[in-house]
Amino acid sequence: NDKSLIVSFGEMLIDFVPTVSGVSLAEAPGFLKAPGGAPANVAIAVARLGGKAAFVGKLGDDEFGHMLAGILKENDVIASGINFDKGARTALAFVTLRADGEREFMFYRNPSADMLLRPEELNLELIRSAKVFHYGSISLIVEPCRSAHLEAMKVAKRAGALLSYDPNLRLPLWPSAEEAREQILKIWDEADVIKVSDVELEFLTGSDKIDDETALTLWRPNFKLLLVTLGENGCKYYTKAFHGTVDAFHVKTIDTTGAGDSFIGALLCKIVDDQSVLEDEPKLREILRFANACGAITTTKKGAIPALPSPDEVHKLLNA
Ligand code: ADP
Repeated sequence: NDKSLIVSFGEMLIDFVPTVSGVSLAEAPGFLKAPGGAPANVAIAVARLGGKAAFVGKLGDDEFGHMLAGILKENDVIASGINFDKGARTALAFVTLRADGEREFMFYRNPSADMLLRPEELNLELIRSAKVFHYGSISLIVEPCRSAHLEAMKVAKRAGALLSYDPNLRLPLWPSAEEAREQILKIWDEADVIKVSDVELEFLTGSDKIDDETALTLWRPNFKLLLVTLGENGCKYYTKAFHGTVDAFHVKTIDTTGAGDSFIGALLCKIVDDQSVLEDEPKLREILRFANACGAITTTKKGAIPALPSPDEVHKLLNA
């Protein structure tokens, strides 16, 4: 399609989720495979809404890696930025919400292929053609992927792309909370558009008051837009000139996985061809209403990728 390109950089993996809810991983009678990884979800969110998206990252040259690449292609995500590692395997995550309400995680990452992406493997031509370059933080945890991530950001920025950052904190993956905070804040100033959840706001600022004052401690003079997502309370937006809140849609939520990815993918779709909307509050509010609708729809179905909305579904909710 002739839209401008959104490139999403980072990890793609498979979440193994117990077939019955409320059990520990050891008690699970079986697992369902749920493809995910926030940057991959964002690329698919964009493509499903009719935008032009590419995913850049590394997968294992194994059954799971080829399954994930197939899912990207089926969803019309450009796959020319995907590398396959001959040695390491695709990342796997086992995640459950136990009966005691605690989340239990187990990761196969020792190391997984995504962590082994090297700067010289990057498809620079693809990255240079991005109008928007989106990324998370998981790719900052270890080398050589961290260097690849920083190089890709630099190349995209130099080529004039808008940089979009969703730190997407997955704390159990980090060696320590201090290191997560340090690495996330190290690249903070580079972004043009940045989105945090209320949980991440608290983690990054150390303040449990989710208010404008706290959010504005994360503001940088070069930012074009700072967003704080608040789940069923919608989102807050901050620009140089104005700030406010856009309410969420009331839906029957069953699984919030992927809501934030759906939200940011929707936003990027709407700003990629006209960044002037970031300076026009009524237009920006309209776009955030659209993004909230996409996030809300994603919570009404199980999983992330199967729950990302089509334009028809969004249209229905917006006009309900
Ligand atoms: P993240 O997934 O990054 O934690 P949120 O859970 O805040 O982000 O969700 C992103 C957006 O999706 C929210 O700003 C909101 O618009 C929408 N959303 C999330 N949860 C719900 C919900 N329970 N009901 C309605 N909308 C929701």
